[in-house]
Amino acid sequence: MSEPLITLEHVQRTFDVKGQTITAVNDVNLEIPAGEVLCLVGESGCGKTTTGKMIAGLLPVSYGRILFRGQDIAALAPAERKSYRLGVQMVHQDPYASLNPVQTIADILAAPLQHHRFTRGEAETRKRMRELLEIVDLTPPDDYLDKYPHQLSGGQRQRVSVARALTVNPAFIVADEAVSMVDVSIRISLLKMFTRLKDEMGVGVLLITHDLALAKYFAWEGRIGVMYLGRLVEIGPARQVVGHPQHPYTQVLLSAIPEADPDVTRAKPRIALRSTDVPSLLRLPTGCTFHPRCPAFAGEVCAREVPALKRAGWGSDVACHLAQAHEP
Ligand code: SF4
Repeated sequence: MSEPLITLEHVQRTFDVKGQTITAVNDVNLEIPAGEVLCLVGESGCGKTTTGKMIAGLLPVSYGRILFRGQDIAALAPAERKSYRLGVQMVHQDPYASLNPVQTIADILAAPLQHHRFTRGEAETRKRMRELLEIVDLTPPDDYLDKYPHQLSGGQRQRVSVARALTVNPAFIVADEAVSMVDVSIRISLLKMFTRLKDEMGVGVLLITHDLALAKYFAWEGRIGVMYLGRLVEIGPARQVVGHPQHPYTQVLLSAIPEADPDVTRAKPRIALRSTDVPSLLRLPTGCTFHPRCPAFAGEVCAREVPALKRAGWGSDVACHLAQAHEP
């Protein structure tokens, strides 16, 4: 098997808050092959964005290692560091804040192309910028190059953000809630664009989202990872996670997704939590941190022992004392 593009080994990230230490990401292990689509899903504060930022090198890990093509990103030589910096790009949630308002789209795209010497001379740069705008469906490109970000819609700005990420030929894009600030029809077309990047250019995508319905749509051919209070609690092929969820938290999230047919939604059994209060990261519950809310709470073992992430279900890895492996 070929080496994963990205590997997370026991990754932990802590922050000091008001004199106390919180663990935002706790013992996350993950291998992401080149060209994979992976969605990280979970409630606000579950650690998914922090994980994405560490993968993109925007935050250091507190403990553990992140490897890029088998090498620890904290110990890369300058040439390898440059390859990693260009190879993993991040697209942020807010396209309004992530583009410089006083630069034209041409300025925004030309800067990395010329700085990293991907193009030489104005004509070649302009040609490449047109190609990039076509890849992200901003056509005809000459209608956009001389505009400023405020002259574009939210969806168009997000496409410019993706085009800027593509200027440096990345192998992997971390898209943090990258479609959550645009309306539903634009959201679908942005997701199709990310899928095309994977299919036609082999660019892997980590989509971070709070919306499991969106993850289900986007990652159908890939994997979904579910995070809860800093830990990965279930990860597997999207079809397995959605069709045969093994972790009670995943089951609760799926039961709350509305279906296209309102009658089906009304008839769908909704799994109730034992408590709707999300525990504070400052006072995490003992044992399985989901136990105060878990509808399948199994008593002392849940309150005492942290469940390890292990193979269960049909090819998913699950952190729950009740999860059982099934024959394929
Ligand atoms: Fe629920 Fe126990 Fe499984 Fe945690 S380990 S998810 S509390 S059944």
